[in-house]
Amino acid sequence: MHSSSLVVLSSSSAARPLRRLLLQSFVSARSPSSQHLCFSASSSSSSSSRCSFRSPKRNPSKVFFTAISLMERFWTRTRIGSNKELVEYLQQNGALKSKKVAEVMETVDRGLFVPHGNLPYVDSPMDIGYNATISAPHMHAACLELLEKNLQPGMHALDVGSGTGYLTACFALMVGPQGRVAGVEHIPELVASSIKNIQNSAAAPLLKEGSLVVHVGDGRLGWPDFGPYDAIHVGAAAPDIPRPLLDQLKPGGRMVIPVGTFSQDLKVVEKKLDGSISVHNETSVRYVPLTSREGQLQGY
Ligand code: SAH
Repeated sequence: MHSSSLVVLSSSSAARPLRRLLLQSFVSARSPSSQHLCFSASSSSSSSSRCSFRSPKRNPSKVFFTAISLMERFWTRTRIGSNKELVEYLQQNGALKSKKVAEVMETVDRGLFVPHGNLPYVDSPMDIGYNATISAPHMHAACLELLEKNLQPGMHALDVGSGTGYLTACFALMVGPQGRVAGVEHIPELVASSIKNIQNSAAAPLLKEGSLVVHVGDGRLGWPDFGPYDAIHVGAAAPDIPRPLLDQLKPGGRMVIPVGTFSQDLKVVEKKLDGSISVHNETSVRYVPLTSREGQLQGY
């Protein structure tokens, strides 16, 4: 990674959050297409180095101005003090275009889902413990937009690796009380805290009446109870697309799933009405792995 604009940053632990944000801003600023495509969830301890992005051509004469713009971007991002401002920020950056998705993201306050001690409205992935992260808001927006047509009122959705429950809650608001949403997460402690988060959020009534559920389980096996699904979101990167998830996708359904190990692509999988499958790559991303519980907790 190009680092000349980062020399001012100390490596002391106090400066680490600032350095991480600047690195992420740096990557965002250099993404040639749009900021929201450049990175996703990654381990908080190394989110910048694990962040995947398309590499544009370097222009040394712009380094100084890039540094200034990075500082400006950093302060803008840390100044964001409310969920509404975060949504406006994503809209201004072109990371969020859909009115419906903006409305839902404004209704579900991300601040309720981010662990205490973090800046809740910064556009970055954040550590949630257990070697997991809550994805960056721009990735949540991107996945909601990719699935929007399959999250209409009354439809069924599955959120694999539901983590904090943020996206699961957004899905539930999209499909409404006639729809069904299941979150599956293999860390029981995260399931317990996600249920508390949702109970404090605008999606609480849907959880109470049972159209939204969160279960402990291996998400690679899906969750057949609410299937087949119009929309499946996978919040962790799989080596391959798990067969049970393809089986639980409804004809006409759409799945968004990061696939790969170090190099990952966010894939959009569509099951046509005749049952055939088409897959295209949406963008390069960096997510935590979809793996076994033991594999994830190694070294934690
Ligand atoms: N989308 C969520 C979490 C993303 S991190 C959010 O933004 O809050 C990915 C999550 O996938 C982690 O919580 C991790 O524990 C979970 N995960 C990884 N492998 C899994 C598996 N096999 N089954 C279920 N959950 C899994």
